[in-house]
Amino acid sequence: MASFQWPDGYHSAALLTFDIDGVVGFEGSAVGSLANRPSVRSLAEYEPAIAIPRILRWLEEEQLPATFFVPGRMAELYPETIRAIAEQGYEIGHHGHFHVKPDRVSDDEERAEIELALPVLERVSGQKMIGSRVPGWAPSAKTLSLLAEHGILYDSSLMGDDGPYRTPEGLLEIPCTWWMDDWEQWGYLPFAGWEYPMNDPRQVMSLWTAHFEGSHDVGGAFVLTLHPWISGRPGFLRVIAETVKAWRRLYPDVWWASCRDVYNHAVSTKQ
Ligand SMILES: [Zn+2]
Repeated sequence: MASFQWPDGYHSAALLTFDIDGVVGFEGSAVGSLANRPSVRSLAEYEPAIAIPRILRWLEEEQLPATFFVPGRMAELYPETIRAIAEQGYEIGHHGHFHVKPDRVSDDEERAEIELALPVLERVSGQKMIGSRVPGWAPSAKTLSLLAEHGILYDSSLMGDDGPYRTPEGLLEIPCTWWMDDWEQWGYLPFAGWEYPMNDPRQVMSLWTAHFEGSHDVGGAFVLTLHPWISGRPGFLRVIAETVKAWRRLYPDVWWASCRDVYNHAVSTKQ
């Protein structure tokens, strides 16, 4: 069993997390400049224009909590979008600044990814940043120390347990995995190394249901990582919404929470 204790009445937890990568993510760590690639650029721009508003409507209809991890540069480019997410009551977390992967850059660049992003994210969202998800789940050996030094209290980039745990740096880790991420299932981009599959969404729901049920068996945290440019497409969101509805009906003792909710619970129960 996972050692983390959930609030009374709940046996496990489920968290919907959205990584807002957009054009910044594509350029920062995927395919490079989009200046001469209008088709791929439009795919990235679909995210703030179409996908995020659709996802917000779904979350509101279903009264589901969620955390949105945002690169600082995305908040500079699309402040209205990020403000709208925050104003609807959803948590904003740090997701780098230019969405570069810390394990591939110098110490100075890594520090800049935190120091450039935190002020703009806090200004645009009106929220104090307490959580971070490292772009590409690719922290360097120093990343968690640097995040802690800058006041970040939890991270969601490691994969070392079924439920939340404390890292040696003192952060609460809310672990994720590539199995519960939409990019691996549907994130096709027409570039070498980025030709992810175009899987049948209903088969993916079968995969995710197995992990949801397994997580519940052990009292874990089921952390689903979604990218709105992918999961905000109507066909994908339709099956995700159906599946989440079924999970909630069948497992009423799963706590649906934001990452901030989990962090606050951990602190109030000294975990
Ligand atoms: Zn990302």
